[in-house]
Amino acid sequence: MSEHDHDDHHDHDHHDHGHHHDHDHDHGHDHGHDHQHPPSEPALRVKALESLLVEKGVVDAAALDALVDAYETRIGPRNGARVVAKAWTDPDYRRRLLADATAAIAEFGYSGAQGEHMVVVENTPAVRNLVVCTLCSCYPWPVLGLPPVWYKSAAYRSRAVIDPRGVLADFGVAVPPEVEVRVWDSTAEIRYLVLPERPPGTEHLNEEALAGLVGRNAMIGVGDAARPSEAPAEAPAEVRP
Ligand code: FE
Repeated sequence: MSEHDHDDHHDHDHHDHGHHHDHDHDHGHDHGHDHQHPPSEPALRVKALESLLVEKGVVDAAALDALVDAYETRIGPRNGARVVAKAWTDPDYRRRLLADATAAIAEFGYSGAQGEHMVVVENTPAVRNLVVCTLCSCYPWPVLGLPPVWYKSAAYRSRAVIDPRGVLADFGVAVPPEVEVRVWDSTAEIRYLVLPERPPGTEHLNEEALAGLVGRNAMIGVGDAARPSEAPAEAPAEVRP
């Protein structure tokens, strides 16, 4: 297991917190990390503009909600799903992805804000990975789009670290005791993406069909890739912790 730039000293202004939490990790310390949010100025400006546009009758709030939902569950995560499917079918790409995710993901043209330093963590039969931002809602926009509401909730952010197995159970994922659970705390600097296990019975599927099995939750680590017989992963069921 690799420790990730964990600082044991706490410099409250420049605490490098790109570490992952073991479940026995002492989490009582003050993070004090240097996030640019919340709420960021752009976020406030967007909110102000939205209020104004709705108030003036230029757009309606329901349409905006539908648009946001589309970016959360369908459009955004399609990029990440293509990356995962490529890693499943191309061993060289998988190696590049695990060695330097930012560069490997940029091969697809997915880069930019909130994806400048990507790390991909791989699920195996022995290890499950779970991504959280304990402080706020850091999330890899270029590959997953917008974060779902539950990802930003205080309940998920605290419980993911304190009781990751309980959170996974709430999402319908039973983790056998012999499987290790690693929790990765996203930061303003590092964003994580989970490479889920390729489901059995998918040997005959091409990359595009495989991508259709990969939903947002699987790439956050709170779910698995769908099996071919299951419902498409484009709009995974919303489960709240
Ligand atoms: Fe954050």
